[in-house]
Amino acid sequence: MHKTQFSAAAALVFFGTISLTSCNRDNESQPAQLTQTQEARAEEAYPGQTGETKTGEFSGSPITYQEINGEKVYEGDILLTAEQVAAAQGQQRPGSAGRTTGRWPSAVVYYTIDAALPSQNRVTDAIAHWQANSPIRFVQRTTQSNYVTFRVGSGCSSNIGMVGGRQYVNLASGCTTGNTIHEIGHALGLFHEQTRTDRDNYVTILTQNIQSGYEGNFTKYSALGYSGTDFGVLDFGSIMMYGSFSFSSNGQPTIVKKDGSTFNIQRTGLSAGDKSGIDAMY
Ligand SMILES: [Zn+2]
Repeated sequence: MHKTQFSAAAALVFFGTISLTSCNRDNESQPAQLTQTQEARAEEAYPGQTGETKTGEFSGSPITYQEINGEKVYEGDILLTAEQVAAAQGQQRPGSAGRTTGRWPSAVVYYTIDAALPSQNRVTDAIAHWQANSPIRFVQRTTQSNYVTFRVGSGCSSNIGMVGGRQYVNLASGCTTGNTIHEIGHALGLFHEQTRTDRDNYVTILTQNIQSGYEGNFTKYSALGYSGTDFGVLDFGSIMMYGSFSFSSNGQPTIVKKDGSTFNIQRTGLSAGDKSGIDAMY
């Protein structure tokens, strides 16, 4: 039983952007046997679209991402910048950033909310949750050059960490407050929990059950060339963790615990492990 107290938040650092998407659109009238559809859904930038699979190389390691609507999408809801992909194609990495880049200076995130975004309470509630459970502070942007804009998107998505300049958290109508907390986690530098470099100690990925084109959502972050830290042990309760049935093609699990058992996706709030990870980063 992996009850992780400390979780993980694989922190990221370097570049990135995450976006999320399709959040839950739980249909309350789902048949009882389809339990996985009653759960919160893993985020996706462009639900139902797999775009064009592109491959690159970073430090000798092959990486795969999807090019959808002009965006470079990694792991479903993570948006890569052109600079990152350039790095992935064997060009110079931007800066020498290391692990400290991508963090918001003084743990302060400047933000704006696009006036056209419906249900803005999703954003304000998610921000309030982060502020109540972490050292991160969110301040409405005035003239700062690095900031996040929450806006309407086709799904739920965000960059990983502070990219520099304006960056977005994209929220479709189906993105819940929980999904917004998740996307903000990406913007702060958190990776998906199941992409930790040590995840094979905790889970088995069942590739044969993953929707075609989404296999990359289950790739370790290090395979992209991200520099990160795995804090604590893998946290099955993390808001950054996929559920056993996320991106399943056939109703069978895509991720199980080492003992073969399944687990639920959690998109209610930060876990103790999420808080520990952010505390370690900031
Ligand atoms: Zn995500």
